[in-house]
Amino acid sequence: MEKTIGQAGGSPRNVTREEVQQQREYAARVKALWQQRGKTPLAYVRTYGCQQNVSDGERFKGLLVEMGYQLTSEQENADFILYNTCAVREHAQDRVMGNVGALKHLKARKPDLVIALCGCMMQQEHVAEKIRKSYPHVGLVFGTHALHRLPQLVLETLTDGKRVFDRDACDGVIAEGLPVVRDGGVRGWLPVMYGCNNFCTYCVVPYVRGRERSREPGNILQEAWEMLEGGVKDITLLGQNVNSYRGGGMNFAQLVREACALPGEFTLRFMTSHPKDCTKELLAAMAECDKAARHLHLPFQSGSNRVLKEMNRQYTRERYLELVRTARELMPDISLTSDVIVGFPGETYEEFQETLSLVREVGFTSLYTFIFSPREGTPAARMPDPVSREEKAGWLAELLAVQEECAARRTADMVGRRLRVLCEGKAKRDGWLIGRTSGNVIIEFPGGAEWIGRFVSVDVTEALTWIVKGRLALP
Ligand code: SAM
Ligand code: SF4
Repeated sequence: MEKTIGQAGGSPRNVTREEVQQQREYAARVKALWQQRGKTPLAYVRTYGCQQNVSDGERFKGLLVEMGYQLTSEQENADFILYNTCAVREHAQDRVMGNVGALKHLKARKPDLVIALCGCMMQQEHVAEKIRKSYPHVGLVFGTHALHRLPQLVLETLTDGKRVFDRDACDGVIAEGLPVVRDGGVRGWLPVMYGCNNFCTYCVVPYVRGRERSREPGNILQEAWEMLEGGVKDITLLGQNVNSYRGGGMNFAQLVREACALPGEFTLRFMTSHPKDCTKELLAAMAECDKAARHLHLPFQSGSNRVLKEMNRQYTRERYLELVRTARELMPDISLTSDVIVGFPGETYEEFQETLSLVREVGFTSLYTFIFSPREGTPAARMPDPVSREEKAGWLAELLAVQEECAARRTADMVGRRLRVLCEGKAKRDGWLIGRTSGNVIIEFPGGAEWIGRFVSVDVTEALTWIVKGRLALP
């Protein structure tokens, strides 16, 4: 038996207070149901992919706790398993499918176990269809726009005895006032907008996350304030393209200034900035706000203008380099990181060399590097792609070698400097701590647990390729 629900298509919309309240009532009913059964149920949530998914995962956990579930890190013990999936690359998708397949045996041993799948993969029709046909042990499937309706979906799954498929075809929602269980320690993720309108030709995100929609600044600042009250010291504002934020008449540069004006000692970061919309106003706001991290994640994807055009990125190599120059004029110590795609369909080795030369020219602190992965339904998946996977892997190795040199140079430049560092926790090595610089470089130094969660001064003494080591500069 199976039940398919979901709302009709439509523009992005705000979930009303009444709807959120109604979900709270469903949550109370789930809780009562478990109380009747005389059991404290356990829930396991696994999140794949980007920080937006991590942030959604924190809200799923909040809702599950409200439904009376206790969170567990052991999926074998759980009564409810939720995989919050990622569709950006095939590799991530295959990993999810493999792990879902492996749950078959657990379900056979525990027939009452509810296995639920959500997130970007489930928003794709063909994936949901495959789950429907070939993974009968999965009891609940829902897409990215149904996050706030988890209590209702869980209740239906528990009471109807049917599989529930809920794949909303709307352009997306904004749901405020959901409970959150944060698991980033002193780091916290704060979505400022959802969805994407850019339709880069390789990317599935606009199809699975809906249209751009921004939260009201008041709601964002309130949540930031609550995070700071709860001990978060490093906040990352999240959006697929934060530069197109528009909320309550405010642009992103203004939002950054407002967030930095909140009281307390903290660092403010954001991701991701799309180069086509990155403004001098934003860079100036960063430069003028002490709490804004000296770190800019600015994905360039390719150093070739022809490839950038094919990707529909809407900027040129020259415009990208000009942004980097402006950022460095305003903030000489800024640390730049980026995303790169290797082997876009039709990319030649000569064009790939332009990516390498851009990497050398900019001197990034670190890079997220990806081999092009065709995504069903995107224009790039239909483009001729004559270069073999093996050849692309060779290009990627070349890129990684160049980046390793750049990263080593940047960390070597840090030796001898005294840096302000947020101590995030214990390092693997006994008696050592791990921290993060404003530029997003990891630093390890000896010290006791009393420093965790505090900003400290650390003298950098040694550079490894990607991280540095140091010692506390005690006052
Ligand atoms: N919105 C962000 C932006 O525009 O930079 C990026 C979001 S995407 C989830 C993260 C990164 O995944 C992208 O910057 C891109 O480098 C990579 N990516 C996206 N689609 C890809 C694909 N089909 N194949 C390989 N890498 C991909
Ligand atoms: Fe994907 Fe481009 Fe949107 Fe980023 S800006 S999420 S890469 S479509």
